[in-house]
Amino acid sequence: MAAALSFKIYPNSNPTRGEERKKLLKTPGFGKLFSDHMALVHWSEEKGWHEAQITARKFLSLDPASAVLHYAQEVFEGLKAYRSQDGCVLLFRPEQNAQRFAQSAKRLAMPVLPEELFLDAVTELVKIDRNWIPEGNDASLYLRPFMFASESFLGVRSAKEYIFCVIASPAGAYFKGQGKPITIWVEKYLSRAAPGGTGAAKCGGNYAASLQAQALAHEKGCDQVAFLDVVERRWVEELGGMNICFVLDKNTLVTPPLGGTILSGITRSSILTLAAEAGMKVEERGYSFHEWQKDAVDGRLQEVFACGTAAVITSVSRVRHEKGEFVIGDGTVGSVAQGLRHKLVSIQHALSNDSYGWVRVINIP
Ligand SMILES: *Cc1c(COP(=O)(O)O)cnc(C)c1O
Repeated sequence: MAAALSFKIYPNSNPTRGEERKKLLKTPGFGKLFSDHMALVHWSEEKGWHEAQITARKFLSLDPASAVLHYAQEVFEGLKAYRSQDGCVLLFRPEQNAQRFAQSAKRLAMPVLPEELFLDAVTELVKIDRNWIPEGNDASLYLRPFMFASESFLGVRSAKEYIFCVIASPAGAYFKGQGKPITIWVEKYLSRAAPGGTGAAKCGGNYAASLQAQALAHEKGCDQVAFLDVVERRWVEELGGMNICFVLDKNTLVTPPLGGTILSGITRSSILTLAAEAGMKVEERGYSFHEWQKDAVDGRLQEVFACGTAAVITSVSRVRHEKGEFVIGDGTVGSVAQGLRHKLVSIQHALSNDSYGWVRVINIP
């Protein structure tokens, strides 16, 4: 076994001034503001993983024949670093992201980054850029680990060179009007993932496949698109980048089962645990669009919410489809969604007891 790779740290010689940074952190938005550093690791068939470094955030220079630009060999992750009230830096279940990253890489025929290297990259970046974590309960430093094929070669096969990188982006609310419920367009024709495809991998290609439907949702006056299964066009799967949950009969939480076409969300899995702990009946089962409409009309369905790291938990108020639209509950933020969101965010910010050992505290010397 080769000795564990450790990160060389090259601090940014021209970091953002403190005053400027504080001003920027007041209104970070989502995904448009970035910290001073990034993590970088290279992989080649000869050398394996090498040159692990934390360096100033800068442009990457790529050959125009880099495989990712042609055949989309790319996978990514998304997780957040939080600041606790006593000034510690916290990560939420980062080993789950590391494991999922490895699975995504396998599906895209890419080399597997050892879990420890993933966690080290994230930790070292958060340490050096800890001043970029905004304060407040809806604020965090969004971390984006990703890996892509960098080999210059136009032949079709899995590449022999890759770059793993982590960037960090201070984040406020994901949706405009934080806490406001969103509206959903149910898409019947365009699909995101098919059985045997890459739906369970977190890869850029899935997003590329979802964007036209997402644009259509906007045209229809909706915030997000919901996809149906591609075989029967019957079962609800997930949104473009978030899982979906239904609250039935006041105390039952239903969510579509993982079956290869749905991304296994860490937020989803945490919510299922917290809901069961709160005494809810939790069902991972197929839920058809027909049932959804019927349950909404009958009043059996009280709430629908979307969940994922970026938007945490967001209630759905209205659903539009080809033949009409319907309202969920009374069209406001549901109490179950609100309760689960509060529980989850409290654990993430170390404001309540972490009985499942989900929170990793980063020690800063
Ligand atoms: C990342 C992602 C999710 C949410 O996963 P989390 O681990 O909860 O952030 C859901 N669906 C898709 C398609 C995703 O890419």
